[in-house]
Amino acid sequence: MSADQPLNINSGWLPAGRPFVISGPCAAETEAQTIETARRLRALDAIHVFRAGVWKPRTRPGHYEGSGEAGLAWLVRAKEETGLPITTEVANGAHVDACLRSGVDMLWVGARTTSSPFAVQEIADALRGVDVPVFVKNPPSPDLELWIGAIERLDRSGLSRLGAVHRGFSVFDKGPFRNAPMWDIAIELKTHLPGLPLLCDPSHICGNRELIQHVAQKALDLEMDGLMIESHANPDAAWSDAKQQLTPEALGQLLANLAVRERSSDDKEFEEHLEELRRMIDSIDDDIMHKLAARMAIVEKIGAFKRRHNVTILQVERWEAIIRSRSESASSMGLGEQFVSDLLRLIHREAIQLQERVMNETKVDV
Ligand code: PEP
Ligand code: MN
Repeated sequence: MSADQPLNINSGWLPAGRPFVISGPCAAETEAQTIETARRLRALDAIHVFRAGVWKPRTRPGHYEGSGEAGLAWLVRAKEETGLPITTEVANGAHVDACLRSGVDMLWVGARTTSSPFAVQEIADALRGVDVPVFVKNPPSPDLELWIGAIERLDRSGLSRLGAVHRGFSVFDKGPFRNAPMWDIAIELKTHLPGLPLLCDPSHICGNRELIQHVAQKALDLEMDGLMIESHANPDAAWSDAKQQLTPEALGQLLANLAVRERSSDDKEFEEHLEELRRMIDSIDDDIMHKLAARMAIVEKIGAFKRRHNVTILQVERWEAIIRSRSESASSMGLGEQFVSDLLRLIHREAIQLQERVMNETKVDV
């Protein structure tokens, strides 16, 4: 089968109106905790699906690993009491079978499982011929191919309601987050699979309660379709992920604080003005491309010139002087220092590579 067989993306299966919200505890710990959390979430009238993990993939042994099938029965009770559809994480074929037997409405593949093609294939095989919605979390490593690969395996099982969940990436420099958001990767997924419903999981990105509001807002501003946020009847006493869980009431407040902006506007004047501004941006981008091409053409000449005079490519003092002078002018123009230094580094890397190519050419024609 061809590797780039197109996916049968069905973009219209989420209910209308944003954001689509999945919430509930990291883990179903006891029947009472599961049901109380579900009841208090139901009272918010802003939640679409109740979640709770029953098989918990823990990075290190010796931590709470979930209630297993007993927890599925608590989820079903929560659904009976609140009317909310239920979802849980599956990591193998036996989990899928147990969920389908119990009447779980929706499944998700956890980050660690997404990174294992064997496990994902086993899940896909167990789902063949069954039409249950499945969300696929990104793998812990910033590897878009692995994420898309897992979605493709499920798609080839004939599932018509697929979605993705962006839960951040486990990288060396995570900044203030538990898992660095690396928004570019989520945006790239949207570009590769347009129309695929994409949720954000700010809880696992942040790892603490304080940053969740900000990350959830950013996700909506990037046109994500919804949120998966962990909530617990008594977060501080949670058996897993205690620091990042909110009470249902705090979640209600957080959702109420979100600004849900429209994807477009019916206002003709707005559309026209936006069009005009976009044309200006297009034209400036075109200028930037020309300038970059002109700069690289000069770099190429310098490379040939250095080669003729047997001079090294990298001259550190020159590079330091560039960074210093450009940073000064950038800040006087109101541009971020970090942004300008990142941009210059990128340009410089390309310039060095170009000069290397010139240096290694056999013929010099300058
Ligand atoms: C979870 O949702 O509780 C979970 C384990 O998430 P992740 O797979 O993103 O780590
Ligand atoms: Mn969790």
